[in-house]
Amino acid sequence: MVDDPNLTERLYESGAEFSGEITEQMSPLLSIFLTWILPIMIFAAIGQYMYKKLLEKAGGPNSMAFGMGKSNAKVYVKSSEGIKFSDVAGEDEAKENLAEIVDYLHSPDKYKEVGASMPKGILLVGPPGTGKTMLAKAVAGESNVPFFSISGSEFVEMFVGMGAAKVRDLFNQAKEKAPCIVFIDEIDAIGKKREGNIGGNDEREQTLNQLLTEMDGFEENSGVIIPAATNRPESLDPALTRPGRFDRRVPVELPDLKGREAILRVHAKKIKASQNIDFLKIARMASGASGAELANIVNEAALRAVRSSRKEVTQEDLEESIEVVIAGYQKKNAMLTDKEKMIVSYHEIGHALVAAKQSHSAPVQKITIVPRTSGALGYTMQVDEGNHYLMRKEEIENKIATFTGGRAAEELIFGSVTTGASNDIEQATKLARAMITRYGMSDDFDMVALETVNNRYLGGDASLACSAQTQASIDRQVVELIKKQHEKAKEILTQNRDKLDKLAQYLYERETITGEEFMEILKK
Ligand code: ADP
Ligand code: ZN
Repeated sequence: MVDDPNLTERLYESGAEFSGEITEQMSPLLSIFLTWILPIMIFAAIGQYMYKKLLEKAGGPNSMAFGMGKSNAKVYVKSSEGIKFSDVAGEDEAKENLAEIVDYLHSPDKYKEVGASMPKGILLVGPPGTGKTMLAKAVAGESNVPFFSISGSEFVEMFVGMGAAKVRDLFNQAKEKAPCIVFIDEIDAIGKKREGNIGGNDEREQTLNQLLTEMDGFEENSGVIIPAATNRPESLDPALTRPGRFDRRVPVELPDLKGREAILRVHAKKIKASQNIDFLKIARMASGASGAELANIVNEAALRAVRSSRKEVTQEDLEESIEVVIAGYQKKNAMLTDKEKMIVSYHEIGHALVAAKQSHSAPVQKITIVPRTSGALGYTMQVDEGNHYLMRKEEIENKIATFTGGRAAEELIFGSVTTGASNDIEQATKLARAMITRYGMSDDFDMVALETVNNRYLGGDASLACSAQTQASIDRQVVELIKKQHEKAKEILTQNRDKLDKLAQYLYERETITGEEFMEILKK
């Protein structure tokens, strides 16, 4: 570098032009602005923006304090969805129960005259997808009143106090619009029993307390009716279910045969179905399905019809879609070896044959060895003729024998066993255990409850309530019970060895056979 103090002057003289560089000193005012005031302003703006966002989330600038906000209960005025009781099929008892509420909302004076007061809270209890939400909407639809709905989980917020503010706000809205329906879905999310959980949950407790306060706060006959839905009623806080609060309980159970048929018909109206569909048969096949699952079955059938470019849904579409809902789609490119296919054939015929050779077994409807996406390599579908409310001890034992029939056939024919029976094992064990611990069907324990079911609407897992010695004894008895039925199944198959071979061969060739074909070969 050359240090030349006269360089600038000389360059000026030579006529060079300067560009780019700031040659002047910044004014002190501007400098202060840029380095101090501007950053502060930027930060303040960001802060304001974030604060506004938070308020919006909490419900708007009219909130009382930080985090206190409006509820985002959706408002449906005048039954905008137009759901009526006639849209809810089956569930007659529940509808009857709720019809009284509708009548009350139509003519409250009739009730006031006598001095009767309507319950404020109604607890709709039942497994998922049985139409609890629909029923609440139908009450609003039939009574022509506004319908507010919010899920219990929406009340549970990150910050303590926010859920309570939502409850307060929801009820303020509701009181303005009374008479009206305020539906709280999944109320167990806020209404769980309070004691017992270590550390507690302040937010949930505050929300629950607020709900209780609000319910106590408004008068009898104010016209605000609060249906709430739950599928774990046993976990609710007793304070919530005591008189004056959610004191009326309306069970919404899984539909029975007639109910299933009715639900199928309601949903079939929404699609183009062929004239000669046997809904009763479909309802029989879909034993244990909820309303939501039946709606899904009908829709799957419609999709299947479109897929095969037909204009109408047929019986076959519906039957296949039941299997899709139960077992998943057919696996088109599953490559079973011939040997495996043979094993699966014998396994399934083993189930079917043991079922058919025992009394009190549901008739075989269909046997298939087409693999499904659920992982099932085949299955035997048994369909009960009518409703089943009670089961005799022998029936359960026969059922266990049927479950063991698949494995029994494998043992008998191939002299070895496969992993294919894992699901059968699970089911048989469950039944055997329940016989001993819950149904009082063992000789030793008489009518003593050794297990209690925790949530009967959600899978119904059970917890043991007995000493360790008793547990060991239960385990032994379960093993004995299953062994006995397994032996019985093997005996049945040994005695019917020729039928077993013939049927398995037939199934192996066709891959799917109907109950009639099965019975025909069996009877020959
Ligand atoms: P839940 O609230 O009990 O979980 P929903 O009321 O949300 O069940 O029902 C879900 C869907 O299932 C409904 O939208 C409807 O299509 C169907 N469904 C359930 N039960 C019935 C019923 N009894 N009649 C007609 N459709 C039903
Ligand atoms: Zn099996």
